[in-house]
Amino acid sequence: MNAVPSKARAVVIGGGVSGCSVAYHLAKAGWTDVVLLERRKLTSGTTWHAAGLIGQLRGSANMTRLAKYSRDLYIRLEAETGVATGMRQVGSISVALTAERHEELLRNATIARIFGVDVAEISPAEAKAMYPHLNIGDVVGAVHLPGDGQCDPANIAMALAKGARMQGVKIFEMTKVTRVTTAGGRVTGVDWETAEGAGHIEADVIVNCGGMWGRELAAQNGVTLPLHACEHFYLVTEPVAGIASSLPVLRVPDECAYYKQDAGKMMLGAFEPKAKPWGMDGIRPDFEFDTLPEDWDHFMPILEKAMNRMPLFQTAGIHTFFNGPESFTPDDRYYLGEAPEVKGYWIAAGYNSIGIVSSGGAGQALAEWITHGEPPFDLWEVDIRRAQPFQRNRRYLKERVTETLGLLYADHFPYRQVVTARGVRRSPIHEHLRARGAVFGEVAGWERANWFANPGQEREYHYSWKRQNWFENQKAEHLAVRNGVGLFDMTSFGKIRVEGRDACKFLNRICSAEVDVEPGRIVYTMFLNERGGIEADLTVTRLSETAYLLVVPGATFQRNLDWLRRTVGDDFAVITDVTAAESVLCVMGPKARDLMTRVSPNDFSNAAHPFGTAREIEIGMGLARAHRVTYVGELGWELYVSADQTAHVFETLDEAGVDLGLKLCGLHTLDSCRIEKAYRHWGHDITDEDHVLEAGLGFSVRTKKAGFIGRDAVLRKKDEGLTRRMVQFRLENPEPLLFHNEAVVRDGKIVGPVTSGNYGHFLGGAIGMGYVPCKGESEEEVLASSYEIEVAGVRHKAVASLAPMYDPKSERVRM
Ligand SMILES: Cc1cc2nc3c(=O)[nH]c(=O)nc-3n(C[C@H](O)[C@H](O)[C@H](O)COP(=O)(O)OP(=O)(O)OC[C@H]3O[C@@H](n4cnc5c(N)ncnc54)[C@H](O)[C@@H]3O)c2cc1C
Repeated sequence: MNAVPSKARAVVIGGGVSGCSVAYHLAKAGWTDVVLLERRKLTSGTTWHAAGLIGQLRGSANMTRLAKYSRDLYIRLEAETGVATGMRQVGSISVALTAERHEELLRNATIARIFGVDVAEISPAEAKAMYPHLNIGDVVGAVHLPGDGQCDPANIAMALAKGARMQGVKIFEMTKVTRVTTAGGRVTGVDWETAEGAGHIEADVIVNCGGMWGRELAAQNGVTLPLHACEHFYLVTEPVAGIASSLPVLRVPDECAYYKQDAGKMMLGAFEPKAKPWGMDGIRPDFEFDTLPEDWDHFMPILEKAMNRMPLFQTAGIHTFFNGPESFTPDDRYYLGEAPEVKGYWIAAGYNSIGIVSSGGAGQALAEWITHGEPPFDLWEVDIRRAQPFQRNRRYLKERVTETLGLLYADHFPYRQVVTARGVRRSPIHEHLRARGAVFGEVAGWERANWFANPGQEREYHYSWKRQNWFENQKAEHLAVRNGVGLFDMTSFGKIRVEGRDACKFLNRICSAEVDVEPGRIVYTMFLNERGGIEADLTVTRLSETAYLLVVPGATFQRNLDWLRRTVGDDFAVITDVTAAESVLCVMGPKARDLMTRVSPNDFSNAAHPFGTAREIEIGMGLARAHRVTYVGELGWELYVSADQTAHVFETLDEAGVDLGLKLCGLHTLDSCRIEKAYRHWGHDITDEDHVLEAGLGFSVRTKKAGFIGRDAVLRKKDEGLTRRMVQFRLENPEPLLFHNEAVVRDGKIVGPVTSGNYGHFLGGAIGMGYVPCKGESEEEVLASSYEIEVAGVRHKAVASLAPMYDPKSERVRM
């Protein structure tokens, strides 16, 4: 073997499927000087023992795009490298045992159609015809994806490694990275050791593909990579007579089980609801092609159901009981991208048991991202910047991953909340809200009141694809905001202070709107990228000549902070996270002014406190900064209150609001109100791949302002014309619900997904938003079409609008 070089352009750490794919794709992208280091043997971590299921359909267009890419790559890899990958397109069947699961499968089939994945809804009898061993007694329905397949995971990784080597990548086994070295916040290389010695490779780029070892390696550099291993089980029978080699992969998610035919044997794998975390005290240094002990008690509930579902399991001999570790993350999604803490520190890890099907596409996307400095398309779902620093806590991770393993096969009901490792981040009025019936959800560790139960009502979600048990609560909250006054706790907002003599200059360089405004003005603006895509939408409040407050969603906070830090360059501006310093209480609705004048001596008239301004006010016996803005489309103020005074201010408002009918409102109502007003939601309706003009947010861009990021892309788009437009829809039938990813059907043809949906309790029907292709078409032509929304295979007539359906002239906001 050649000596490990002392210098490389990129070092990939880890020779599982992830590292092999990243190295392969970096080489394909023209990186000629890539080194991959593996502490033991290639594939010896988790990859060698995967089941090898390749299912293309994931929860979103871009995740599906990555999985489809993997499948296509694995099909052609054998010819390219000469390594047999075992990739066979046998198709897959998923069966539903409940009506709710059937609805989910049908909704997934719609998603497949939107994303161009071949799918067929099949009856239980048709499923039985394709899968004769299946007991269909209680099967409600099924879907068939003929393009899915199965493979030999270790050989996929070996083929990728061979393909990488063929393009010049140098791979060294038995070579452990002991530390990633850094200087001045940048990667400078890696220290490595072998049995014979140690050394250093100088490199600007490293990619942590260390699987379940990745977290500890990252922690050495203060990089947040929240993942934790769990035990993961399957068993393989002795050969069974009559098993066809063409048998599709079978998933029975209601029984947490999948089945795969393997050389005449049957494999049964489990996604049990309560998993067993593993490796809490670190992983043995000599761990290599290892397995974990059998645990029949743990596996038995799955096997018992399998014996009924597929009676051959009652008699087949057991060839292998397999238990191996895999890494899981707090939200069941993997991590890609550059760590915000250290420049040049890239990550592709935490695959939650879909690493084989994901790594082909993920490696390709990451290689492009590393090469061009920006993701090839919206990858927010898996972006490492969604990780919160507190998630480095191992007790938190250990508790949470017991739940995440099972989530892959759980019912993916809308609004489903995690139940483990809760309560880490709370508002100062958390207990007040709880006492008043709040039912909490969690985002970025924050506990947030999603809805308020009535006295005596059960404070639990009853999940469903139909109206859930809180539908009427939401309606009452929603109508209080439209007709009276509601109070939201939005303390989870991320708050960033930018100050210094260049603060204005800096922000004007990264904001689409003009922020050189008078102190006290609030500006709604975008951060655009060079393609005109939306990196963030936020409000920027000028507090003084040299100080600004930026308010962003809690979920995107780390990403937004990272964008600021990356772009500040030599400007003299200090960027500080002040999230925990202030709470945010939002008083919203036509009676908001009445309420404010009861609790404060300040003047809340339009003349004294117009829309888009912030003023310090006295409130109760304390102080707050009142921002006149809204995300629900009503008159209202967001009150920024020092954390220590929040309970007092809340009590003051609460008491004063009694006879005004002040209603405590949750996040579900915030969402249903904003969607009536067609306010976009970042991450759903707008992302870094959505052009600001196509998103209908051109009003937030001031092209007269010189030199801000994204300006050229906006001007270009103005010249070229829009290729799609964001449209708001309302279903004519008030019954069906819209959540996300239903299909927008224009003149009988599916044109894309609903990007977000909720119920318009004021407008009287489900509301959704989505992009409609419109190359060369006027607004009138777009609206002249007939629209339907396909929900679980059924098409419902929809009214379409380019202007907000609720209060299109924003008169209520300025009343
Ligand atoms: C039972 C089971 C069934 C599964 N079934 C499927 C399936 O059907 N379909 C699917 O898509 N996925 C499946 N998976 C998941 C899949 O196996 C994993 O997601 C995938 O293998 C993860 O690959 P990786 O490269 O991230 O991690 P690994 O394969 O663990 O690779 C990480 C590598 O990094 C090396 N390393 C760590 N630290 C260092 C260091 N400091 N220096 C050098 N090297 C280092 C390790 O030695 C290891 O080889 C399954 C997993 C299990 C356990």
